[in-house]
Amino acid sequence: MPKSGPKSGSKAQSTIINKVVNVDGVFRKPEPRGRSEHPDPDVRNLENKLDDIGREPKPRRWDYMEPSGDRNRDHERLKERWNEFIDENPRGWSNKQRTPCVSAVWDRQSGRVYYDHNVHKRDKWNMNPDDLDPILRERYNKSLDKDGPFWKLQEDQGRHGAPGTHSETRATNQALKDARADGREPFMEDFMIHNGNPKSKDSMRCCGNCTQMCDGAHGSKAGWESDGAGSHRVDESWNGDFSV
Ligand SMILES: [Zn+2]
Repeated sequence: MPKSGPKSGSKAQSTIINKVVNVDGVFRKPEPRGRSEHPDPDVRNLENKLDDIGREPKPRRWDYMEPSGDRNRDHERLKERWNEFIDENPRGWSNKQRTPCVSAVWDRQSGRVYYDHNVHKRDKWNMNPDDLDPILRERYNKSLDKDGPFWKLQEDQGRHGAPGTHSETRATNQALKDARADGREPFMEDFMIHNGNPKSKDSMRCCGNCTQMCDGAHGSKAGWESDGAGSHRVDESWNGDFSV
């Protein structure tokens, strides 16, 4: 049952104003801009950095990470970020889009974390090398010579589509491009990869293409025998741990 309306003019006015002012999210004073007081130091740093370059801060915890000095610990943290990103699904990716694999690629120099999913269906054969950063483009071009000395193939590698169409390589590509846009000469060693299946949350090794496309990035060889030809033999005993 609705409340009875106000009876006198002045009282009616103040009641209406109070009602309007008290409705959440309406006519609220803008938040003061000052330095961020967010309790998470990573979010605080990101907010302050975005403030410094004049962008509206919309930081999320999974978008940014500072190195801890312990690489294995950092991989655990990256995995935590990945899990949060999967749970929140901030880009609204459908299950079709984001399965079987979503990757988090952390640029250890800038602190930014990139996420991507695979390209599906026919498009997974449509890799345009012009879309690739020069480091990845060179590797892609080597992959075209399948009998050449630089590109090692698994038996059924063709099912993965063209090199460059998978989540970790796409995320690494964006990270490389942004690093150059920052005015920096990037190295693959600047980056760290975590791959997982969004449904099961299980870790996934890079495929035969991505382990070569992302070679040098930490995690690109997880789940692969290090002494195989071109590091190109699946380690069947891998337990899903990237922190190695
Ligand atoms: Zn792959």
